[in-house]
Amino acid sequence: MSELVTRAGALDAADELAGTRKQFVLDEVVYLDGNSLGALPAGVPGRVEDVVRRQWGELRIRSWEESGWWTAPERIGDRIAPLVGAAPGQIVVGDSTSVNVFKALVAAVRMAGGDRDEILVDATTFPTDGYIAGSAARMTGRTLRPVLPAEVPGALSDRTAAVLLNHVDYRTGRLHDLPSLTAAVHTAGALAVWDLCHSAGALPVGLDEHGVDLAVGCTYKYLNGGPGSPAYLYVRRDLQDRFDSPLPGWNSHAEPFGMRGDFEPAAGALRGRVGTPDILSMLALEAALEVWEGVSIEAVRAKSLALTDFFLECVGAYAGEGRVESLTPVAHAERGSQVALRCEDAGDVMKRLIERGVVGDFRHPDVLRFGFTPLYVGFADVERAARVLAEVLR
Ligand SMILES: *Cc1c(COP(=O)(O)O)cnc(C)c1O
Repeated sequence: MSELVTRAGALDAADELAGTRKQFVLDEVVYLDGNSLGALPAGVPGRVEDVVRRQWGELRIRSWEESGWWTAPERIGDRIAPLVGAAPGQIVVGDSTSVNVFKALVAAVRMAGGDRDEILVDATTFPTDGYIAGSAARMTGRTLRPVLPAEVPGALSDRTAAVLLNHVDYRTGRLHDLPSLTAAVHTAGALAVWDLCHSAGALPVGLDEHGVDLAVGCTYKYLNGGPGSPAYLYVRRDLQDRFDSPLPGWNSHAEPFGMRGDFEPAAGALRGRVGTPDILSMLALEAALEVWEGVSIEAVRAKSLALTDFFLECVGAYAGEGRVESLTPVAHAERGSQVALRCEDAGDVMKRLIERGVVGDFRHPDVLRFGFTPLYVGFADVERAARVLAEVLR
């Protein structure tokens, strides 16, 4: 038992990301739910106060120009871009992930052309993506086919218009092979739409490098943007001219203040905008993204894998075999930044864990989910979480 405590101390001492923890508001709780709602970066409250009191309260309408409100969706998109391997000018921030899934998928189907009549969707997807895909299929007159990610290559054909996949499975933490699946989708002549909710900010994504067509993600998980912070949409540069949004709004118009009756889409990423951006949430997100200054996503990934490895090892040592079973792949190439443990009475177990200061979450029907956010979770936290879990299970 003490050997793991000693190891945790040594790992924390050698941790090159240990310094970023100070940039977050934390307490005694071991917070392993940052894959659901990221912790509060310490710089956010002051910024929000300034946005409300000075920018809104004093400058009022002038702030659209003088405080950079109008251009915030593209500016903050460019701030997220390096974290997901995108060059500037391809990401716009706004709306929810659900809404961006709709924009991306309908636009992908429109780009694919009329003779392709099928949309493939990750059969294990986070539910909202599946609901939206169902509606997108009905609206565009396509058939929706749920397929396990591993079976996508065999399901592709010249009928496939677009494929919507989750990069990391929200339940099990399984990481899907984005480069090879994207290549397979392209070989079939279809478009790949990736949902990065559980990978952006946790591991390198490489959107440009792997030729991803469209991608979406939220910002309130590993990017710590705050509850309901706006999501983002990536449209690869060479597809932007063909991006035909199903939600064209005055903010995506080439001349938003021309107040014209006809719609002429803007050039570039801002074609993905719809209406007036939610400035308060958006500027809280912008402040939150400052914690990434000087942080390499490769270092985040290395620590994330070390944290999940160490957690699995501690759970094995403290809880033993049998009482819990990991649903998270052992192979690093197949693991995101969370550990999902199947456990009898998981809802009850999680309640008791939270009472004892270890916060993860419960996913129906029998999963304990623990998210590891390398910017503010350390190895001593991991050891403590596993020890408390073993005590609760006993
Ligand atoms: C968290 C999550 C969402 C959330 O969608 P919202 O519209 O932002 O509520 C969608 N998809 C996936 C894969 C997620 O993990």
